Amino acid sequence: MESLKILYLYPDILELYGDYGNIQVLKYRLEKRNFICTIDRYSIGDDAPNFQDYDIVFAGGGADNEQSILATDLIKYKENIKLAVKSGTFFLLICGAYQLFGKYYKDSNGNTTPGLEIFPYYTASNPDKKKRCIGNIVIEATLNEKKTKVIGFENHGGQTFDVFSPFGNVLCGNGNKFGDKYEGFFLDNVIATYLHGPLLSKNPDVADYIIKYCLERKYNREFKLQDLNDEFENLCRKQLLDKFLNK
Ligand code: GLN
Repeated sequence: MESLKILYLYPDILELYGDYGNIQVLKYRLEKRNFICTIDRYSIGDDAPNFQDYDIVFAGGGADNEQSILATDLIKYKENIKLAVKSGTFFLLICGAYQLFGKYYKDSNGNTTPGLEIFPYYTASNPDKKKRCIGNIVIEATLNEKKTKVIGFENHGGQTFDVFSPFGNVLCGNGNKFGDKYEGFFLDNVIATYLHGPLLSKNPDVADYIIKYCLERKYNREFKLQDLNDEFENLCRKQLLDKFLNK
């Protein structure tokens, strides 16, 4: 039976916004289709993981202080992570984790945390702590040539610059910075986004994009994923899209 291995980074530190729900959704949507889903967790002090052993690497969002603490640990794996990105492991990075994969993150006190420098963007927060991008957000992303509305909730002081390949166009909300036209960062095997929610619970198409990509990469053949009963998810989406886009 086919399986996917997930590495869940810093579950005890980057868990301020309920992003763990993304792991739960991936596990649910894999197991409902009779795929095996194994989840390893890594945090400071644990044995060094080999990122290339995994199909998916996930990390969530967190507060400035926690980001600066774990960045020193994360940077130890910079070369290993670079190889994993290059070899096609899927990276799902939410907010604080998104920021740390760039050049650096400068917080509202002016403290700069060096990032992994894997992607060319950088993030700087407004010195006014009250100036944060907070609220519901809807973007339009293109996944496997299909446009899809992606719904989430953003809460970040960080403003991210020099994103050459955004995840989507902002339909409502801020995005990478206040009033930006674009949100997040996207490659075939990377979704880095400010969308909490958790992201995948509100966007089953995004979850299935990740699952399909990872299965096809691992087993070197096409997968047509069996449809799941997303009636409840789709009802919620309709409600939210009507509320956010037709206000
Ligand atoms: N601390 C970072 C910021 O405020 C990331 C926040 C988050 O992960 N939601 O921009």
